Amino acid sequence: MPTPPRPTAQSSGGHHFAIGDIMVTALNDGMFTGSFDFLTHFPSQEAEALHRAAFRAIPPRLAVNNFVLRIGDTVALVDAGCGSAMGPDMGRLTANLDALGIAAADIGLVLATHLHPDHVGGLVDGDGKAVFPNAELVVHEADYRFWGDDATLAGATSDMDRGFVQLARTTIAAYAKRTRVVTQGEVLPGVSIVPEPGHTPGHSGWRLESGGDQLLIWGDIVHMPGVQFPHPEAGMGFDVDGAQAIATRKRIMDMVATDRLRVAGMHLDFPCFGHVTRSAGGYAFVPEVWSPSV
Ligand SMILES: [Zn+2]
Repeated sequence: MPTPPRPTAQSSGGHHFAIGDIMVTALNDGMFTGSFDFLTHFPSQEAEALHRAAFRAIPPRLAVNNFVLRIGDTVALVDAGCGSAMGPDMGRLTANLDALGIAAADIGLVLATHLHPDHVGGLVDGDGKAVFPNAELVVHEADYRFWGDDATLAGATSDMDRGFVQLARTTIAAYAKRTRVVTQGEVLPGVSIVPEPGHTPGHSGWRLESGGDQLLIWGDIVHMPGVQFPHPEAGMGFDVDGAQAIATRKRIMDMVATDRLRVAGMHLDFPCFGHVTRSAGGYAFVPEVWSPSV
C-alpha cells in the first residue's frame, strides 16, 4: 500500500465568517519572518521575552491577511495582499480566490486600508497592470494624496522606502480611471470607512454592520500581536507618524474593548477574527472559536 502523501500546506487559506447578510472570507496571503527591530518605543529583548513566554516564533512571524466580502451580488476585496512584492512565499491571493471560485473579473471593488506593499501588491502584476479589470479602488483621500505626492518619493531615504512609494504609485496609476477617494461614510450597504491615521496618513479600517452584527476590519492597528496587545505603546518602524499611530492604536483598542466590537486584522494570527479585552494594563486578543458551519 502506498503511503498517503505527507501534507506540506494547510488545506485552505480561507476562513468564512458571516456578519448578518455579509459573508466575509479571510484569506491568508502568507507569513513572513520579521524582526523585533521593527519595533519602536519598545526594547527588542522585552519583545523576545514576551514571545518566548507565549510560545511564539523567534524571530517573529507575521501573518498577512486580506478579505473577500460578499454583499448581495457584489464581490469586494479588503486589501489584496503582497502580490510579488514580498517574495515567493507570499502573494497567495489568486490561488485563494481560485479555491473560492472567484475570478479576477468578479471583483467589483477593492477597499484599501492603506497603500503599503503587503496590502496593495496583489492589485498589480509584474508589468504594473491592474489584476482586477472591473474593480473600483476605494481609498482614504489622505493616503491617495500622500503616496501620489512627488515630495513623498523625494523624501524616501532608503531603497525600501522608495520601493514602498513606487508600488503605491504604480497601483494608483493602474486604477487611475476607477478610483474613489473617501474620508468618511458608507461605500457599500453596511460597510463604512473608519479613519485610523498614523501608520499612514489615510490608514483606515472598514466597519461592517448587518443584521445587528458588527465587525471592524482594522488594517494595521496591530503588526505583532504578541507584543502590541499587551503593550499598545509599542510602535512600528514603518509608521509614517509614529506618535499618531500609537495614539490611534490606543484609541481603537479602547473603543473595541469597551463596545465589545469584533475585530479582524491584516496581521492578526490567521484566521484573525476575535475580540479585544483589557488585561494587566494592556489588552489581550480572544480569538473566535472555529465553527464548521457559516
Ligand atoms: Zn501591513
